[in-house]
Amino acid sequence: METVLNELAKLIENSKRIVAFTGAGISTESGIPDFRSPGGLWEKNKPIDFSEFLSSEEARRESWRRKFAMDPVLSKAKPNAGHFALSSLYHIGKMKTVITQNIDGLHQASGISDSDIVEVHGNTTYAKCLDCHDRVTLKTVREKFEHNEQLPECRICGGIIKTATISFGQAMPIEEMRRAEVAAISADLFFVIGSSLVVYPAADIPLIAKQNGATLVILNREPTPLDDYADLVLRREIGETLEAVAKM
Ligand code: NAD
Ligand code: ZN
Repeated sequence: METVLNELAKLIENSKRIVAFTGAGISTESGIPDFRSPGGLWEKNKPIDFSEFLSSEEARRESWRRKFAMDPVLSKAKPNAGHFALSSLYHIGKMKTVITQNIDGLHQASGISDSDIVEVHGNTTYAKCLDCHDRVTLKTVREKFEHNEQLPECRICGGIIKTATISFGQAMPIEEMRRAEVAAISADLFFVIGSSLVVYPAADIPLIAKQNGATLVILNREPTPLDDYADLVLRREIGETLEAVAKM
């Protein structure tokens, strides 16, 4: 077994409160493209900024078009070896919390309780009114949208409806950021998996953990801006790495 894998296995063995911090990279092996890899979503669809979403009806239309085009991929996607390895660390009591930037729900599908998952960038399985926060089912939006791309409006206040995800330029969810910070402070091993760590403020969370005494491990195919702060960096594929370590 390679030295880095042994080192990772030892760190996990010696930890009691692992917190995982995942990004789009953990879900690529489930067939969901990430943002920044070659061929990723970034190249095909530049993200729609929150201010653009608010100011332009065409941007809102384009955003719903992409959402409904992506839905068949998301609804078919299943957790992969990486998700399941984390789930087994959770079930033996070593891993307490997963902080995720993903909106795909695959950690829940791998058997981790929703109450132990912090979704800092929200969730794409429902929508909300941006003004009164009334929750709206996607089915309602889709039915309207499929009819001449009609944009949804809040039935209570007339406000703009948007999926419950956080766009670039949109304020972070206060309660989730608080929970993420509490988890980071309490972690003895903070394990970043599949994130380019360039999206802020989410990328501050690993540093909060490090500054509060956690060992920082980064598993990502490509270098990240936080590699210099990490105690261990693994530039490897996620599924096979986590599967190997979970078996050790
Ligand atoms: P990112 O695309 O910026 O970075 C993903 C990183 O994972 C890349 O550095 C890539 O090299 C690495 N990677 C991809 N597949 C890998 C594999 N099999 N093994 C090892 N490394 C692998 O993603 P991010 O940091 O999460 O930021 C993008 C934002 O976009 C997130 O905040 C998220 O909200 C959103 N997003 C979510 C999903 C999802 O829910 N699955 C998908 C795309 C984008
Ligand atoms: Zn409303």
